[in-house]
Amino acid sequence: MDDRDGQIWLDGTWLPWREAKVHVLTHTLHYGCGVFEGLRAYRTERGTAVFRLRDHTDRLFRSAHIMKMSIPFDKDALDRAQLEAVARNNLESAYIRPMCFLGAEGMGLHAHGLAVHVMVAAWQWGSYLGAENMARGIRVRTSSYARNHVNSVMCKAKANGNYLNSILAVQEAIEAGCDEALLLDHEGYVAEGSGENIFIVRRGRLYTPDLTSALEGITRETVFTLAREHGLEVVEKRITRDEVYVADEAFFTGTAAEVTPIREVDGRVIGEGVRGPITEKLQTLYFDYVHGRRADHAEWLSFV
Ligand code: PMP
Repeated sequence: MDDRDGQIWLDGTWLPWREAKVHVLTHTLHYGCGVFEGLRAYRTERGTAVFRLRDHTDRLFRSAHIMKMSIPFDKDALDRAQLEAVARNNLESAYIRPMCFLGAEGMGLHAHGLAVHVMVAAWQWGSYLGAENMARGIRVRTSSYARNHVNSVMCKAKANGNYLNSILAVQEAIEAGCDEALLLDHEGYVAEGSGENIFIVRRGRLYTPDLTSALEGITRETVFTLAREHGLEVVEKRITRDEVYVADEAFFTGTAAEVTPIREVDGRVIGEGVRGPITEKLQTLYFDYVHGRRADHAEWLSFV
């Protein structure tokens, strides 16, 4: 990742990709106190557009608020940097990564007097869980690691340190021959994937866990909107793992994962073992909107 052409925005300055570096005593590198976002830009007929830019920037600021980090730029400046990161790197489609981190000014856990630094990078990134899996569906395994407890770390913050839990879970799933992990909360109810929200379909109705221990996903919210606009009911409720086993369909949502069908969980085939019709419909709608193929919801696209 660090050895390529292009430019990265760091604290308001565009740097050559290879020179966008930090000191080894960077506080966030040691303790994980940082906040970040992940966005995608897609090629549309009218040029490249970032999907739901301001919604991601808003969440970045909410995450920083939770972590008591004061971002030294306003939202407009960060929106501009994210759009420019795509343009400056000559990307037709992109994954965009803004991150706010504490610097190397000191090492104490109290983090007093540390500067909040901000970076934005963008690069080409294909289907997160495999292009062929977007039609076929993925194999998922319930994790032995419980999702972060709501009173241990703040799950409404997309905070760097929260992802220790995700990394343990996804590595365990992959070592077991699966594609992704399903994490349960401390009471044993379904929370989310390592980097995705989950939906199940039963008898034509969509169900998804409430947000107690899951990130407030922007793709999740997009799917809510699209489902409702197309006459599908969405219910937020506690879901048990065996409800997932007997679902007609299941899928993950996330900026990186987009709408990824789930074909198997813990060795149980879900539904027909292929992408179900409601999943396909929502996935198609999602791709239509991100690619600017529909006239409404123009507010979701910010052109580069
Ligand atoms: N949950 C977790 C833990 C995530 O990391 C992500 C990805 N940001 C999501 C859910 C999905 O969020 P979004 O749709 O906003 O990308």
